[in-house]
Amino acid sequence: MADLLTLARIDELTALLNRYNQEYYELDAPSVPDVQYDRLMRELQQLEAEYPDLQAPDSPTLRVGGKAITAFSQVTHEQPMLSLDNVFNAEEFASFANRINERLGTTNPIQYACEPKLDGLAVSIVYENGILVRAATRGDGRVGENITANVKTIKNIPLRLSGEGWPQWLEVRGEVFIPKQGFLALNDRQKEKGQKTFANPRNAAAGSLRQLDPKITAKRPLAFYTYSTGLVQGERESLPASHSERLQQLGRWGLPLCPESTTAESTDACQNYFSYIGQQRNDLPYDIDGVVFKVDDLRLQERLGFVAKAPRWAIAAKFPAQEEMTKLLAVDFQVGRTGSITPVARLEPVFVGGVTVSNATLHNQDEIDRLGVMLGDTVVVRRAGDVIPQIVSVVQAERPLSVTAIEFPTTCPDCNSPVARVLDEAVARCTGGLVCSAQQKQAIIHFASRKAFNIDGLGDKVVEQLVDAKLISNTADLFGLTIPELISLDRFASKSAVKLINAIEKAKATTFAKFIYALGIREVGEATAHNLALHFKDLESLQTASIDALQEVDDVGEVVAQHVQAFFANNANLNVVERLVQAGVHWPAIEVIDSDSLPLNGQTCVITGTLSSMGRSDAKVILQSLGAKVAGSVSAKTDFLVAGERAGSKLSKANDLGVSIWDEEAMLAFFAEHDKA
Ligand code: NAD
Repeated sequence: MADLLTLARIDELTALLNRYNQEYYELDAPSVPDVQYDRLMRELQQLEAEYPDLQAPDSPTLRVGGKAITAFSQVTHEQPMLSLDNVFNAEEFASFANRINERLGTTNPIQYACEPKLDGLAVSIVYENGILVRAATRGDGRVGENITANVKTIKNIPLRLSGEGWPQWLEVRGEVFIPKQGFLALNDRQKEKGQKTFANPRNAAAGSLRQLDPKITAKRPLAFYTYSTGLVQGERESLPASHSERLQQLGRWGLPLCPESTTAESTDACQNYFSYIGQQRNDLPYDIDGVVFKVDDLRLQERLGFVAKAPRWAIAAKFPAQEEMTKLLAVDFQVGRTGSITPVARLEPVFVGGVTVSNATLHNQDEIDRLGVMLGDTVVVRRAGDVIPQIVSVVQAERPLSVTAIEFPTTCPDCNSPVARVLDEAVARCTGGLVCSAQQKQAIIHFASRKAFNIDGLGDKVVEQLVDAKLISNTADLFGLTIPELISLDRFASKSAVKLINAIEKAKATTFAKFIYALGIREVGEATAHNLALHFKDLESLQTASIDALQEVDDVGEVVAQHVQAFFANNANLNVVERLVQAGVHWPAIEVIDSDSLPLNGQTCVITGTLSSMGRSDAKVILQSLGAKVAGSVSAKTDFLVAGERAGSKLSKANDLGVSIWDEEAMLAFFAEHDKA
């Protein structure tokens, strides 16, 4: 017998999950991350397994998806569109595979189709005599929404099948999704128009597909991959008897297939595929939340059949979550190198995207307003790949009564100067300039960083100590530091003091490009600094360049030109630059080079993967100095790809396009041959 508490918990979970289903499937606006939904679903499944009598007739463990909204006409699926069971680790996958073998009464290895689990929404598309006649969402699995007009606007879905021999009635199923790049561009456009941005690509895809006006859908960057068939009737030629071969046949008829899909001959090979896709996850052009394994032989699939809401012959193996829930404890305001004030959320530590996260950026006041976030809120944190953690939404249902507003400071938390926000700019800035020690510290940290002066031993902590002790307040002061001054600091032994002084001395020999980059001019990154150096060749010409002359430089537009000019119009900056040169900072003269004579002149290359001998940005600078253009993505215009360790999708694409590939050794040999070693 279940106690009252268990009864109440089952009721509570049923109600909560039903509400989350409605938010997710019908409103395209989930309020909790998937991982929370999955946790609660597991808990309910376990309780129902223990107390089967207490299962509600409307239990979410029995139902697929959500109801079709009535604004669309309805489509009754000829064959139900089901969900998938989940596994969350290797042991659970092994039990799934064992159950398959047991049910089939065999110990022989089973072939599985392996497919990335695309994070979009399931769609059924019917081709009658090769013509697209109907498309529908999954809805509750039995009845979906008729979205034919919208689906016809998706560019990679054929309106008419190519080839011949297709069945009279061919229902294909697959996922509609928004590729990552398209998602970023879509959110940028939404922001520009002052409209709501989407929390993740899945919500954006679902919201875009279920628009009542297909013209809006047409503007969204939706794409489709086919992953199975539904009802097939009137076959002219029999379709292959394995799932993977059937997909290949659909591909020949023009239906788009996911290029990463494959088959595996054993459960070990499935596990390898899972790890491989896991490694590729961040580099894939679309979002996935796991891998789907399907028994490949369709006759075996038929023998295995279905349970309540999922097939027995398939399983979704989920990756660790990239979104989690946690509490916003406080917000600190950090002052950047150029005075920008960034609110940083201090969070109750939470494990997400493979690491423990306790801070996340809140960007600026607009972002705080957009999220409507308050101190004490429960928030959804997203960490995907190496991207810094973001707060994507507030879980309104968890908001305690005691929340308080986040107050943006009106004066700098460091120097008390007024904070100003320029019209049309989202960023608020401290107006203290060089008086502000936070800005001083950030400017010096930037100056000493690897890509700038690369001063060994001058990390963030040491810079803070030096500025706090008033030993330095700008970058030129570094070159006047003495050993006794350093030793006077806490935890500074004479050995490390000597080492640091030597490192500072050594750093005086630099390049003009690194010098420009190190100055920390707003929006002048490494590449722009490199272009400025090549164009102006000496400091005097750069300092006195007009806005027009600056705009002649590659990649320099009006805004950057103004930042450069404003920097050199400031006397305090000019003074620092002069003192740096007086202290002995120097660089080799830039030769006037005839670009036609460069060995890689006119060639475009891309760098991918990890290089063991240098960073990608250093390799880029050398390649550029040899005349190459270094691009970000592989295309038909790419002449060669430099592929380091763990190169991913760029390498496969280059192989597909027949682009020549240089490994690191080949690159270094080329550099040596041209005196760039
Ligand atoms: P599912 O996402 O676990 O699996 C089924 C779906 O996977 C299919 O309908 C299809 O859309 C998709 N899919 C992607 N690639 C596929 C492939 N290669 N082959 C077959 N299918 C593929 O099941 P579901 O019923 O759609 O959704 C349940 C999941 O949705 C939950 O586990 C949870 O993560 C999420 N969810 C979240 C909330 C929330 O409030 N955050 C609410 C409801 C559901």
